[in-house]
Amino acid sequence: MDDCYRIRVPTPFAVGRVNCYVLHGDGLTLVDPGPASEDSREALAEGLAEEGHELSDVDRVLVTHPHMDHFGDAAAIAAESGAEVCAHTDAVEWLADPDAQFEREQELFEPFLVSMGLPERLSDTVISLPETYRDFRDPVTVDRELEEGDVVDAGIDLEVIHTPGHAPGSVCFLAAGEAIFTGDHLLGHISPNPLLTTRPDDPTERTRSLPDYLDALEKIQGIDAPVGRPGHGDPVTDVDGRVAEIIEHHREREERVANILAAEGPMTAYDVTQELFPDLPATELFPGMSETIGHLDLLEDEDRVAIEEADGVVTYDLAG
Ligand SMILES: [Zn+2]
Ligand SMILES: [Zn+2]
Repeated sequence: MDDCYRIRVPTPFAVGRVNCYVLHGDGLTLVDPGPASEDSREALAEGLAEEGHELSDVDRVLVTHPHMDHFGDAAAIAAESGAEVCAHTDAVEWLADPDAQFEREQELFEPFLVSMGLPERLSDTVISLPETYRDFRDPVTVDRELEEGDVVDAGIDLEVIHTPGHAPGSVCFLAAGEAIFTGDHLLGHISPNPLLTTRPDDPTERTRSLPDYLDALEKIQGIDAPVGRPGHGDPVTDVDGRVAEIIEHHREREERVANILAAEGPMTAYDVTQELFPDLPATELFPGMSETIGHLDLLEDEDRVAIEEADGVVTYDLAG
């Protein structure tokens, strides 16, 4: 794909830089413009200028998923260029009002995590986003809602593959025979976190993010793409190999969780998290518990756990 280049946009987040891909076959298309900050906007403008493009030339902005390191600056770029913003249907509400989404999550997860064994004194810290991070995203109106199988003409045809799990409304864009743009669904250097969130169709219920994620990983197994272009880090040169590695990683961890339950159950998801990831700082507890609960969900789907609730606290034990 000669008509595609990557700009490594800085972010203030632990994950480091985010990849913005620029396609210039037919007009100018950005896949994930990065967060809303002066630093990232400057890096984006410089990267475009090196190839003879300007921010005002952008015709469309594709959002792989509604996390602010990827979409934060989409609204500003659309305002400056008139670009069409495209994202999956399930991401639309979240993108239109990220603060409201954050409040929905707080409402659901504060009591939920306590029911999963999290000490009440920690629940506030665990679920609150550092106030300053809110500055790195602007609400954005989606002009074109994408669904599984839709094709976006960006000079090259990009087929939409719906891949929820890391986030609702996550999509990969497949340029058949050329590349797949994976957002955070497939990364080369880290195993994407199956973060719990509210269900797009019912915000009073949580997602089953890890089972969803693994199903969506299988969707890109054997896909016609010699290279993966992820949201962070370098290109993935063996998409199938990387998919297999991540599936294997989760299988091993699922067995570890089963072993912990066999040795120490019944126990809460919080207790299992402490065993899996000792000494997690409070700020990392939400991703940690998301992962643990994901593995408990997998075990539940396989009828391998007994789940009890007493006094509002849920415990898990190995079944049988
Ligand atoms: Zn993400
Ligand atoms: Zn990301």
